Amino acid sequence: MLSVITVIGNSKLPSGELVDLKVLDGVVVEHLSPGKTKVDIDLGGQLVVPAFCDPHAHLDKALTADIITNERGDLEGAIRAWQSRYGDRTEEEIYQRSRKVLRMALANGTLSVRTHVDVGANAGLVAVDALCRLREELSGLIDLQIVALVATPISGQEGKENRKSLQKAIERGVDVVGGCPHLDSDPEKAIAVAIDAALEAQLPLDLHMDETLDPAMLSVVVLGRAVLEKGFNQAVTASHCVSLSVLEPKRQRSIASLLKEASINVVSLPQTNLFLQARDRPTAPPRGITPISLLRDEGVVVGAGGDNVQDPFNTMGRADALETAALAVVASHQSVESGLDLVTDSSRIVMGLPLCGYKLGLKASLVAAPVSTVRELIATAPTDRVVIRDGEVVVRTTSVTEMIRDF
Ligand SMILES: [Zn+2]
Repeated sequence: MLSVITVIGNSKLPSGELVDLKVLDGVVVEHLSPGKTKVDIDLGGQLVVPAFCDPHAHLDKALTADIITNERGDLEGAIRAWQSRYGDRTEEEIYQRSRKVLRMALANGTLSVRTHVDVGANAGLVAVDALCRLREELSGLIDLQIVALVATPISGQEGKENRKSLQKAIERGVDVVGGCPHLDSDPEKAIAVAIDAALEAQLPLDLHMDETLDPAMLSVVVLGRAVLEKGFNQAVTASHCVSLSVLEPKRQRSIASLLKEASINVVSLPQTNLFLQARDRPTAPPRGITPISLLRDEGVVVGAGGDNVQDPFNTMGRADALETAALAVVASHQSVESGLDLVTDSSRIVMGLPLCGYKLGLKASLVAAPVSTVRELIATAPTDRVVIRDGEVVVRTTSVTEMIRDF
């Protein structure tokens, strides 16, 4: 097979250096001084960063905020409102909404998405079918991973039908086993069931963990111990970890070190947590966001995702990783470098994907935008972006503003 060389010219790196990126078969092989060679893609000095990665979405729920209302505004209200409309869903309409959100995400520079999809006795497998169809269609453009978000309970006799649905979803070809143990009548048993199902199928595990401000709900500790005891050999992700945020630092650190020992990665989901949590706390409401810095200090890999996009769980959201990064900076007090890392490198590690970007030896999957620094990129989230996958432009957005009355 003939090798393909592409030169992505006048690329401004976050360090401020201006380079031409020489790309061989999709991989960055050399940083050249501009003007030395003919360029194939001229970025004209735009800033380049690695393509974005969203390790936690709910595509099957997205864009329903105008038709399904969460009266209470909290997690329980969202679940009730959402599940009351299960009968209205069809594979086609889930497919269409999911596709629309993925097109928004792609235009914003996201090339990899892990989506949880509802599975269960009542939910059926309709969302799995819709997303499997999209996963196949988008192969080579967006890396889409499907998590079977099995309904609760999955423990005990009453969990029998949901367990059956999980098995069927695994047979349909989901990539990851999911669930919400903290909502189960027996969280410990629910974790054991999920681990056993993932072990048997040899699939990674990604569980919603402790999406509550109740400090007594710490199923993440049960997960850490169970992963170590069972010698689980697949990747494990704990998403949310909200209750961890309200513990004393000493207890937080001991749990973080357990997660590190068990090689459990964590995904922070600032927007949905800010939307759903602490609605019953009129005074000094806690933010309810994963303690990112503390976990990272203990060596835990932490990524960040968009979670819900305009649905009963979060009526805002625009499928833009820069929105998540900005919230990490503002609401979780992360540096801009950390904000970017949360939605790029660390999230790719969570998804088990190789890193990408402008560095030598990496796949040249990039986002370019007309800004000077990473801070400006996150702060302004410009509409105009060039999205490059493996050295090839896949989206180019150019907007026009007419200042009719300028000053
Ligand atoms: Zn979620």
